[in-house]
Formats: sequence, structure tokens, C-alpha cells
Amino acid sequence: MDLSIATPHALILVINCGSSSLKFALYSAARREPLLVGLAERLGAPESSIRFDLDGARSLVKLEGAAHAGALAALLEQLQKLGWLKNVCAVGHRVVHGGEHFTASALITPAIINDIEACCPLAPLHNPANLLGIRAMLEGMPNIPQVAVFDTAFHQTMPVAAYLYALPRRYQRELGVRRYGFHGTSHRYVAGEAERFLELDPADHGLVIAHLGNGCSATAVKNGASVDTTMGLTPLEGLVMGTRSGDVDFGALCYIAQHTGLDLAGLDSMLNKESGLLGLSELSNDCRTLEAAAAEGHQGAAEAIAVFTHRLARHIGGLAMSLSRLDAVVFTGGIGENSSLIRKLTIARLGVLGIDLDPVANDQMKGGKSGFVSRSRQPAAIVIPTDEEWMIACDTIALAEIITTTGLSTL
Ligand code: AMP
Repeated sequence: MDLSIATPHALILVINCGSSSLKFALYSAARREPLLVGLAERLGAPESSIRFDLDGARSLVKLEGAAHAGALAALLEQLQKLGWLKNVCAVGHRVVHGGEHFTASALITPAIINDIEACCPLAPLHNPANLLGIRAMLEGMPNIPQVAVFDTAFHQTMPVAAYLYALPRRYQRELGVRRYGFHGTSHRYVAGEAERFLELDPADHGLVIAHLGNGCSATAVKNGASVDTTMGLTPLEGLVMGTRSGDVDFGALCYIAQHTGLDLAGLDSMLNKESGLLGLSELSNDCRTLEAAAAEGHQGAAEAIAVFTHRLARHIGGLAMSLSRLDAVVFTGGIGENSSLIRKLTIARLGVLGIDLDPVANDQMKGGKSGFVSRSRQPAAIVIPTDEEWMIACDTIALAEIITTTGLSTL
């Protein structure tokens, strides 16, 4: 069958490779709901497995210690069994760090692979895993166009004032030390949806988007472009997260190192894995667990939520100063979309921006709904569910279409 991306049977596979996990989603070019989603976990360990969610039914396949290539082979085998493999026309890959090189998604070629490789020192845990997925898929489906979609690309429009650290310039020149920002695919998707939802003038609007999940970041978006964001060289800076600290005085870290003997690797691990909501509450990194515990009087949980919302409101206020007008604060991600408590406590601090809570609308807003959670409309507070996988699929369709219409070959 001669299948082009433009035909209704064309399928797009979206792959998100982590260091020991692999998430995937299969889309039809004509439909936003994925046909098949799944997750391979504990890759490389004896208990590795891959699960498939299809039409509300879940199946699990043991991978017997296989790593990324084995998980992708199991995925392709499943697609073959379902009769869908022959219809896959393009593959989209999430890539965490695109450095200064990538300002947009890119069709994967050998040169692009080299460029992604060059960004590995900036994201040593993530980019090598992303490359494993890319290489395995190129081997498994060598004739299909593949696209890389970068977490950092959306933030490449940040002005120099927002992206430079006040460090000696040589570190930026020689090592690329600057603020890059992350969650760009989510911020870009949500910015577009918010612009449509609020019927904003594409050439004259301003948003602050709070992506609150296990990782959290907020971004100032001016006329569709990122102008400032809370994450930096790595996804550690900025807001309080599930297990990540966000902003901390480096002097405090020196003090901890001096008094505990923690070395750099120990500090890095403590800041990324033991801090945030987990470190503050000494209970959990999960917002739902903390809300339930706080309601029962757990002081650590209540204080973790208080620090989280204080820091968030403070950053939202700061980001608004990078805009020339503020139309809305937008909540998204697992916490932003579902936690009426986090939104309520945050919005309560945004009165100075002219935003006031609509308590009834806020309590009803969860489970993938979009809408207003403020009484104020200018500026407003709204919820827009994110959909990073669909955004990756859309970029993949757009770039793969270029190939089918021009006959260009990638590899
Ligand atoms: P994500 O990384 O976007 O999947 O978000 C994960 C976070 O969302 C976890 O902290 C969850 O506890 C939180 N979350 C999901 N549903 C709810 C809910 N109904 N209320 C509060 N937090 C939630």
C-alpha cells in the first residue's frame, strides 16, 4: 500500500525514552485520542516489562531483563499483531535537551543525531536515553521519517536578560552555561490552546503558564513566544517539585556540604531526589497524598503545600514582569489540572495582579476539563489540560508531510 501521512490510515508513533523507562502513544493522523498507549519500565533490570493500554484493556508483557531496544522490539511486534505496523508513517521522539542549536523540532538525519549527541553533556541522564530510542527505531523502521521534538526549543526565544546567569561570561562561552528552560512542548501546546480559548489577539497577549506535575515549571509567554521561564541549565531551578528543590541559596549547599561531608554527587542526588514536596513533608512526593495528610493534621504535609504555593505565586508574579500585558495565569499538569487546593492557595496570593478566585468553578475543575477558575476575566486564571504527546505527534505530522510532499529523504 502506498501510504502517505495525508491518508486517513496513516499512523504516528510517539516515543519518550527515559533512562529506565519508555512511554509511547500511537495516533491516527486524523484523531487526537491515541489508539494505543503504554509504558515499559525497569528497563535493563530482571523485572523489566512493557504494558499496553488498548480500548480500556491493559496487557502486560515481561521483557526478561531487556533494555530499550528490547522494549521497542516488543512494541513493534505488538503493532504487527494488531495489523498497524504497516500503517506507521512517522515516528516522533521526545528529546530533553536541544541546547542552543535547536529552536524547533527537526527531521532526524545523521547530522541531527550528531547535534543531539553534542547536547549530551547538558543532560547526561536524559539525552543518551533519548538517543537510544532514536537509534533503535531507526534500526527497526529504517524507511520511516523520524522527528525529534525538544523540551528546550520553545524557550530559545528568551531574551539575553532572561537566559544569562550572572556568572563569569567564560562559562557561557566555553561550556554553554545559561538558562535553557524545559517542559517547552507542554508550554507551547498550552499557550496555543489558551490563546484559542480566550480568543486572544495573536500579536498582543501575555500569559503565565504553570506546568505543575512531578516536575514543575512556569513560563511567561508573550504573543506565543517564551520570554522567561523558571527552569535553567537543568530542570532543577525554580519551583518546588515532587522530589526536586527548585531555587536554593548556593551558600546553603556549601554549608550543608561542610557540615555533612556530602560531595557534589551527593548534593546533586539530594537536591533532585530527596527534596521538594518529599523532603519538606518527610512523607511523600505525591500531591494527592499530601493533601489527604494535611487534611488530617499532618504538619509536614501542610507546610510542604504552603512552601509550594508560596514559591509558585512568587514566580508567577516575577514572570508577569516579563510581559507587557497579562491576560491569564494558566494551570496545567497533573497538579495544575486536578488540585483545587493548590490553585486556591496560589490564586489567593495573586490579588495584587487583579486575579480573584471563583471557588465554585475551581472546585469543579478536574479530570481533563478546561475553563475559568477566577471570577476576574482580565486577567483571568484558567485551567488547560496539557497534551505533550499530541503536540509531538503534530510536529511529526508537519515535518513528515514535508518529506511526502517534496520526496525528500532523511537517511
Ligand atoms: P504529572 O507528572 O503531570 O502526571 O503529575 C503528577 C502529580 O499530579 C502528582 O503529584 C499527583 O499527586 C498530582 N495529582 C494528580 N491528580 C491529582 C488530584 N486529583 N489532586 C491533587 N493532585 C493530583
